[in-house]
Amino acid sequence: MGHLISSTSMLQAARKGGYGITAFNVHTLEMLQAVIEAADELQSPLILQTTVGTVKHLGPDYIVAAARVAAKNASIPIALHLDHCTEYDVLIQCIREGYTSVMIDASMRNFEDNVEITKEVVKVATAAGVNVEAELGKVGGVEDDISVSEEDARLAVPEDCVRFVELTGVPTLAPAIGTAHGIYVGEPKIAFDRLERISKSVEVPLVLHGGSGIPDEQVKRCVSLGMAKFNVATELRIAFSDAIKGIFNQHPNENDPRKYMIPAKQEVKALAQKKMLLSGCAGRAKELR
Ligand SMILES: [Zn+2]
Repeated sequence: MGHLISSTSMLQAARKGGYGITAFNVHTLEMLQAVIEAADELQSPLILQTTVGTVKHLGPDYIVAAARVAAKNASIPIALHLDHCTEYDVLIQCIREGYTSVMIDASMRNFEDNVEITKEVVKVATAAGVNVEAELGKVGGVEDDISVSEEDARLAVPEDCVRFVELTGVPTLAPAIGTAHGIYVGEPKIAFDRLERISKSVEVPLVLHGGSGIPDEQVKRCVSLGMAKFNVATELRIAFSDAIKGIFNQHPNENDPRKYMIPAKQEVKALAQKKMLLSGCAGRAKELR
């Protein structure tokens, strides 16, 4: 169809249209191809994303080149996003190489510092036509064992969200609402009332981190409350790795990467399509043309 696009317009359309766009963390060429095929078949807009770790592992130039080929060949709008970046140099390097969206994560700093850092990134990225995502509050990790009051303290505060968006001009916001990175041990405790207040307070598209393993009806509820981007990372890695483990369990001597990469790719693709149907982005590509 064309070139990689900024995710800003995609996500604004999603928020307005009442659906969520799935953003998949990919680590290999096969994972990237799997989610592209999945989105192309379902005619869904797509956000490809990589962690800083993967940028360092594969190289931003290789990642951008692969994503550009995908955007050229596919018939859907595709954005390439840098997930959770705390390193300014890496972020700038990715923008220079051709990423069309970046997350500056200064959520571990105090509010004022988060504002300053994010503001600077928004200035640079906007000049390059690149989307910016920032985080307020703290998204948990699966290993975290914390009390209810601690949990509440980590949630994003609606008034802060309003001030943060005003002060930074950030086009997309990831407010912590009780989700965690990784796979949940029990049921996730999403603070829907908090999400609803934030959603009513700010107009920018909202981003849900820790989207792996959230029950289907809770995903739908998040979408109805303004979540426009769903990050899926851990679940995708597990699907990919389990498929490979399955092949090696049956054929311990297998040494042709195609024999285990092709089934792994199929598993990733199937899971990606399930997520797209759930968040409602399937069939939405045409609205963005
Ligand atoms: Zn995250």
